Amino acid sequence: MNTTASTTYEDVVAAAARIAGAANRTPVLTSRTVDEEFGARVFFKCENLQRMGAFKFRGAYNALSKFTPQQRSRGVVAFSSGNHAQAVALAARLLGMPATIVMPHDAPAAKVAATRGYGGNVVIYDRYTEDREQIGRALADQHGLTLIPPYDHPDVIAGQGTAAKELFEETGPLDAFFVCLGGGGLLAGSALSTRALAPGCKLYGVEPEAGNDGQQSFRAGAIVHIDTPKTIADGAQTQHLGQHTFPIIRRDVDDILTVTDDELVACMRFFAERMKIVVEPTGCLGFAAARRMRAELKGKRVGILVSGGNIDLARLGGFLAG
Ligand SMILES: *Cc1c(COP(=O)(O)O)cnc(C)c1O
Repeated sequence: MNTTASTTYEDVVAAAARIAGAANRTPVLTSRTVDEEFGARVFFKCENLQRMGAFKFRGAYNALSKFTPQQRSRGVVAFSSGNHAQAVALAARLLGMPATIVMPHDAPAAKVAATRGYGGNVVIYDRYTEDREQIGRALADQHGLTLIPPYDHPDVIAGQGTAAKELFEETGPLDAFFVCLGGGGLLAGSALSTRALAPGCKLYGVEPEAGNDGQQSFRAGAIVHIDTPKTIADGAQTQHLGQHTFPIIRRDVDDILTVTDDELVACMRFFAERMKIVVEPTGCLGFAAARRMRAELKGKRVGILVSGGNIDLARLGGFLAG
C-alpha cells in the first residue's frame, strides 16, 4: 500500500487556474445570530451554491481537464448515486466529452434525471446483485473510458482543495476550520490549502456518528473499513478513506469529530430559517460539530465548509416540518 501523501498545495494552485471561469467562486456568508451564539466570528464557505449544487464539480472538472485528447474522445466513466455523478456529467459536457455514469436501480429519480439532463449516459445496475466497481471497470476496459473515482484520486483532491483556498484568501487566517468528511477528498484538499495559507489553524474533519470510520482510522493510524452506515448524511456513507486521502488527513488534520443525525436536522433548519439557504444533511456536518464545540471557540475566527445543497424538496420538507 502506498502511504505517502503525493498531492501538494502546488497541485491545488494549478487546479484553481484550471477551474477558473468554469466553477463558481462561491460566496462566504456570515450570520450575526451565529456570531452571537458562538461569541466568535464564523465564516461559511457556501458550496451549496456551487454549480450542480456541491463542491464535487471542482474535483471533477479539474480531473477531466487533464485528460489527453485521446482520453477526451473516448470519454469518462464514474459510478455514483450522488453528487459525483452530476459533477462528472456536467464537467464532461462543458469539456465536450462523453460521460457514462453507473447508478443503482433505486437511485432517486431526480438524481438520475439531473445526471441525464447534464448529458450523462446513465447505466443502471442492481445494487443487491451486481458490483458497481466491476461494471465501471468493465465499461472502462471495453470502451477505453477513463474511470474517475469520487474521492481517491490526486486530481480530485487538488480540485476539492480550491474551495478552502478561496475561503482563506477571502478571510485571512482562521483559528479553527470544520470540514465534512466522507471518503476524504474534500478534507485532504482542504488540508493542503489550510497548511499552506493558515498553518496554525486547527483543522477538523466531521463525520456522522454512525459512520465514524475516518475517526477510527485517524486514531488507529491505518484505514479502517466499516459497513455502509445508516445516516441521513448520504454524502458521507462511505465505508473507508482512500489510499490517497488518508496519508494527507493523517499528516495535516488535527482531529476527526462526529455528530448525530438530530444535530444535522437542527442545522438544516437553522440554515433554512435564519440564513435562507438550502443545505443537504451531509453539508451540515461542519456546522453541527462547531456548534457542539462553541464554548471552546469563544473569541476565535472560525471557518465552516458547507459542502452541498442537493436534497429532494419532499425530503427537505419532512426535515423542516420535523
Ligand atoms: C461527497 C460529499 C461529501 C464528502 O466528500 P468526500 O470528498 O467524499 O469526503 C460531503 N458533502 C457533500 C455534499 C458531498 O457531495
